[in-house]
Amino acid sequence: MQASRLAALAARDPTIAGCADAAAHLPSPDMQLRLFALPCGWLESDLRMFLAGARGAIRVPVPAWLIVHPRGAVVFDSGLHPATQRDPAERLGDLAAVFRVAFRPGEEIGARLASLGVDPQGVRWLVSSHLHFDHVGGNAALPNAAWVLQRREWEAACDPDLRARNHYDARDFDCGHDRVLVDGEHDLFGDGAITCLPTHGHTPGHQSLRVRLASGDVVLTADACYLRRTLDETLLPPIVHDREAALASLARLRALETVGARLWFGHDPGAFAGARQTTPFEIA
Ligand SMILES: [Zn+2]
Repeated sequence: MQASRLAALAARDPTIAGCADAAAHLPSPDMQLRLFALPCGWLESDLRMFLAGARGAIRVPVPAWLIVHPRGAVVFDSGLHPATQRDPAERLGDLAAVFRVAFRPGEEIGARLASLGVDPQGVRWLVSSHLHFDHVGGNAALPNAAWVLQRREWEAACDPDLRARNHYDARDFDCGHDRVLVDGEHDLFGDGAITCLPTHGHTPGHQSLRVRLASGDVVLTADACYLRRTLDETLLPPIVHDREAALASLARLRALETVGARLWFGHDPGAFAGARQTTPFEIA
């Protein structure tokens, strides 16, 4: 689906009425975005799976994100599939031995949204950073969303070789969503509030998301940058689709931070420590 299709969908959605109008492309002076982190379980693994050559173990959060925009609710990534709460090995195969799942009922994306008063059935926009199991496992819980992802990522999912190399499981994302395939940077509503940023490399068409809060720009890096250390020490994980592209994406994220953006890393446990690890919280 092209951007024009996105506009057509927007035109049908009363909660985002006017998105397709030219006037909607102007920033609204009273627009107040709200951004919520939704902890959707944890993965335990060897640290070297996140930072090549590092020793020890790590327990990382699996976050999804909710952005409340005046024109509708937007979810960025959907976490793990609920089946991994019961039998991770059955769902994930060999990956379950590398990434041990700690994911309890009530932590899945649908329950997290409901706890904030958001009906998953009513979410109209689902943006995916990429197609790994811990980012699209909850896609089916948002059946009425238009699904926004980079065209390159989708094309990789359609290529048997790339699908296997990148460990994509079509059961996670082949859920019948209307697809909105975007190429590179993409302003979701045309108002500068929520922008897909291409950060390829981790996978063929990985993207991050910039959210323009009243307090300043926040960039949800997703797996273009797993941890604070990834950026500070330029330490990629051992398995990367395209190392050069991944390094270029890290440089892009570093440049955004330099000019004032606040980065939220894909799997950094520090930001989800303490009480925050069990309940959704707002990024102010
Ligand atoms: Zn991930």
